[in-house]
Amino acid sequence: MIPFLNLKDITARHRAELIEAATRVIDSGWFIHGREHEAFEREFAAFHGPCHAIGVANGLDALTLVLRAWIQSGELREGDEVLVPANTYIASILAITENRLVPVLVEPDEASFNLDPDRLAAALTPRTRVILPVHLYGQAADMPAIMTFARQHSLKVLEDCAQAHGAVIQGSRVGLWGDAAGFSFYPGKNLGALGDAGAVVTRDPKLADALRALRNYGSHVKYQNRTQGPNSRLDELQAALLRVKLPHLDADNEHRRTVARRYLQQIRNPAIRLPQRVGDEASHVWHLFVVRVLDRDGFVRHLTASGVQTVVHYPIPPHRQDCYPALQHLDLPITTAIHREVVSLPISPVMSDSEVESVIQAVNAYSPAPSRG
Ligand SMILES: *Cc1c(COP(=O)(O)O)cnc(C)c1O
Repeated sequence: MIPFLNLKDITARHRAELIEAATRVIDSGWFIHGREHEAFEREFAAFHGPCHAIGVANGLDALTLVLRAWIQSGELREGDEVLVPANTYIASILAITENRLVPVLVEPDEASFNLDPDRLAAALTPRTRVILPVHLYGQAADMPAIMTFARQHSLKVLEDCAQAHGAVIQGSRVGLWGDAAGFSFYPGKNLGALGDAGAVVTRDPKLADALRALRNYGSHVKYQNRTQGPNSRLDELQAALLRVKLPHLDADNEHRRTVARRYLQQIRNPAIRLPQRVGDEASHVWHLFVVRVLDRDGFVRHLTASGVQTVVHYPIPPHRQDCYPALQHLDLPITTAIHREVVSLPISPVMSDSEVESVIQAVNAYSPAPSRG
């Protein structure tokens, strides 16, 4: 079986260095907010350019805490609206509703699966305060157009970078375009920890300062609390492990691009709709390679029988989730069709040429069952 994502092999490449890093933490006797965490924040910021990085416990918290900091600073109020792509992973929406803000779901551009800048104007109301673009599946959203719209309407922009570490648009990495960005280092992401971890990136020093307190009970100085905050700290062990993996991120993304290029060139099957890269090579880091097919169940059965593991990202759109009864009435045909048809092929920094070849052959050998009309 060709695994969808071989985390064991991805991790094994760095085994010796990871053990050395873990040993350093164990021997230091210092496990929270120490040297490794400080160094990772510095290195992750430097990877992006002039900005601040703030380590947090996971990607959901990274997004949630930025919105919470804007509420605490008075820049947002409960009930304010946030424009967000309707086809995103649920965590983007949870960050909004956690803060009693209102998600306004915007249909995506079908070519890129990303927020469609041409649909923003129609979604705008007097309560709109934030745009939350998601660089879904690893492809950078159209940030130049989104930022122009945001500036015209005095909206804040929070980028969800959980699937697009290292993607570049016009020379700038995603995360540096908006007012702030949330990253996840969930193990399966392009930069993954060996557990949960996340970070915020921002060029705003005041927001960075607020977040450093907010993630740690709202405490600026030990035992002094200016605001209320959760415990959302990135621990020394994960920071040390992430420091081992960060220097390999660009090369890993390059390998993903090689796999994607072969899929795009060599998968030829009229029943399969391939993903499109709408920008240049650098704008897509191929977190996922998502194809569309009408008879998804049949396609998945065929691939499984051919020894190829697949995953669906995601089977149920946020507006059809039980946790959001207030969104059920929405009519979002593009999003609904996407969620019905998408399926992700294996892609990873450790996929071999022969594995890629086998996936291509299996996909090309698929033929849909004749429809019963
Ligand atoms: C993974 C992910 C998150 C959440 O990250 P966690 O670290 O799992 O909390 C948020 N948004 C998107 C688009 C994601 O893929």
